[in-house]
Amino acid sequence: EEEKSLNFIEHIIEDDLKAEYVKDDLRFRFPPEPNGYLHIGHASSICLNFGLGLKYDAPVNLRFDDTNPAKEEKEYVDAIKKDIKWLGFSWDTECYASDYFQQLYDWATALIKEGKAYVDSQSSEEIAEQKGTPTEPGKESPYRNRSVEENLGLFEGMKRGDFDEGEHVLRAKIDMSSPNMLMRDPVMYRVLHKAHHRTNTDWCIYPLYDWTHGESDYIEQVSHSLCTLEFLPHRELYDWFLDQLVSKSRLRPKQREFARRNLSHTVVSKRKLLQLVENGIVSGWDDPRMPTISGLRRRGYTPESIRNFADTIGIAKRDNVVDVSLLEFHVREHLNKIAPRVMAVLNPLKVVITNYDEGREEWLEAENNPEDESAGIREVPFSRELYIEQEDFREQANRKFFRLKLGGEVRLKNGYIIKAESCTKDENGNVIEVQCTYDPKSKSGSGTEESLRKVKGTLHWVSIPHAIEAEVRLYDRLFTDATPDGHKDKEFMDFVNPNSLDKVTGYLEPSLKDVKPGDRFQFQRLGYFNVDLDSTPEHLVFNRTVTLRDTWAK
Ligand code: ATP
Ligand code: MG
Ligand code: MG
Repeated sequence: EEEKSLNFIEHIIEDDLKAEYVKDDLRFRFPPEPNGYLHIGHASSICLNFGLGLKYDAPVNLRFDDTNPAKEEKEYVDAIKKDIKWLGFSWDTECYASDYFQQLYDWATALIKEGKAYVDSQSSEEIAEQKGTPTEPGKESPYRNRSVEENLGLFEGMKRGDFDEGEHVLRAKIDMSSPNMLMRDPVMYRVLHKAHHRTNTDWCIYPLYDWTHGESDYIEQVSHSLCTLEFLPHRELYDWFLDQLVSKSRLRPKQREFARRNLSHTVVSKRKLLQLVENGIVSGWDDPRMPTISGLRRRGYTPESIRNFADTIGIAKRDNVVDVSLLEFHVREHLNKIAPRVMAVLNPLKVVITNYDEGREEWLEAENNPEDESAGIREVPFSRELYIEQEDFREQANRKFFRLKLGGEVRLKNGYIIKAESCTKDENGNVIEVQCTYDPKSKSGSGTEESLRKVKGTLHWVSIPHAIEAEVRLYDRLFTDATPDGHKDKEFMDFVNPNSLDKVTGYLEPSLKDVKPGDRFQFQRLGYFNVDLDSTPEHLVFNRTVTLRDTWAK
């Protein structure tokens, strides 16, 4: 029973626990490169690694893979930490690959002394040419057999700053005819005269990913280094480097791979998301249309909904695209439980209740959340002049139209049954006002026979004199194609949806006047909305998180 619910990574761990490891050996890490904000794909990796930590009561490090000073920044480090905490996870130790620069340098020096690494003085183009192809062996560099002394001198010179970028690199001396191209004397260090966000100008040589990652895992004694499938061919090199270092008394990390998670109608790659930011397609990394954790947060997603999404899709052995509607399903499901219901009209049509006294107002009781009794009730004002949605009225309609039509009745949510008697149009024939009568005995919850009378439609509404205005931002997919980066002949940028943001003025019930950024609501019949970061008491701004139903036409 229990066995069935294990995913394949958990099976690997269970097998390792039966064989060489004890429970205290288990240690995991989440290793982001601080070159952008975390996205929904990272959420899968976060939930996997931190989930294993919780399951096995094992520490999980947050390791910044910060070996490329050209693209990395402190802003990204801070954003990554904030997003992981917001998702509800805490790490054991905050680690930086850059903290290991000296250790890595010392180990590289040891490899040189053992004849397992050498300084190559060719250009990167020459090195690439000599790599060969998977079916034909590569050519050895003319510098491959430099003496240990010469290599040590040059490597020290590289570190000291004696050379320009590209003049020399340090390469591991492995096998130029290996069927695995990554084993053909991979580059370990390059010269980069760039300041690093943490080590500043201490270093002008920087280690490459393959030389850094496994060694960082070893330093931190990570037992299972889980990465995405594109690293499968790197595993041989990961192991080769460890073979040169591991001492018997210390734990030897294992790299294991799982599939990348892609989301439909968007791109999950920091590089591509950065392009959207830099080209002004979105307002920033946290634009509510972005598939970043910060964008989803700003959009109104809850951490629970993202975790539930990640847990539901689980982990896989093959790359695939998950439909974004599944993510939306999870936020809808959670917000349905927690979001207070309120009334707001986004596309207003004036209704006048002709038999309701001018100047009269009354406050009607409204349930805050039918899914949660403890949410209590509030009062909403009713008066002679109301707004309903334009779509909720037609002069004439067939029997299947359960909303308001001339001569027909509807119930106003939390209020009365009204009947449309006549309407007024502008010179273009558009209805600009509907005159209605109300049934004074039909008030919801009043217990009268009339209040229990069933009418087919119930509409949301707001009282015009009491309504507060807000800017409401309605979002559509950021891309018009399900797999914008999956086309051979086109760029993902070619599929940007020019109409992904629509700003309207909404009219809201007055209970919303004191809302704060992050507050979440269900606007009844319209969807889930939250208060945007741009919102101020003077100028309220709401985002539509998601519609109530999956209405998007594919
Ligand atoms: P990107 O292309 O967005 O930069 P990356 O893999 O280079 O992605 P990292 O910062 O290195 O980004 O990712 C940290 C961890 O998250 C890595 O272990 C990586 O494999 C994992 N990860 C990144 N993207 C995804 C994804 N789409 N699905 C699952 N895991 C992911
Ligand atoms: Mg990476
Ligand atoms: Mg990357």
